[in-house]
Amino acid sequence: MTVEETLKSVIRDVPDFPKPGIIFKDITPIMLNPKVSEEILDHLVELYKDQHIDIIAGIESRGFLFGFPLAIRLGVPFVLIRKKGKLPYNKISHDYELEYGTSTIEMHVDAVKPGQRVLIHDDLLATGGSAAAAAHLIRKCGGEIAGFNFLVGLDFLEGKTKLKEFSNNIINLAT
Ligand code: AMP
Repeated sequence: MTVEETLKSVIRDVPDFPKPGIIFKDITPIMLNPKVSEEILDHLVELYKDQHIDIIAGIESRGFLFGFPLAIRLGVPFVLIRKKGKLPYNKISHDYELEYGTSTIEMHVDAVKPGQRVLIHDDLLATGGSAAAAAHLIRKCGGEIAGFNFLVGLDFLEGKTKLKEFSNNIINLAT
């Protein structure tokens, strides 16, 4: 099986969560299966090992699950991008629009150094709003966006279009 086929076989579609009309892609069965988890991680390492990634930024919270192990395997630092009010030290923040209202994400000020090539990782790409906000935050610190990685991309929402202003290197392992 390809990694995409493996992912599709384990990710669970949960209809009408968290609200009617949404099909939630539940990735938690991946973590129940160490063999599948390892296969995904090995695949990610192969994809990025020669891309000169200096640092990986994971988006709260499911972006931490594979972002941090990938950073360890690549031998690079890992940065947590979190919702407002969760990080303890000095932070920079970025406000962005949601379908209804706004949201704020934060990162520690000393996490990304100017000129570093940052790979942004999350479990899933929907509209691209979260990943675009993460890219803005990294740019505020002078970081370069080396690319975006997601386990799953919901192509019909065209999130990639929103991310192309930051990088054309946008990879999702499954759809
Ligand atoms: P977006 O900012 O619209 O690209 O949404 C991506 C973020 O929302 C990711 O952190 C996902 O974990 C979460 N998300 C959005 N839609 C879904 C979905 N259908 N299933 C699972 N997670 C989702």
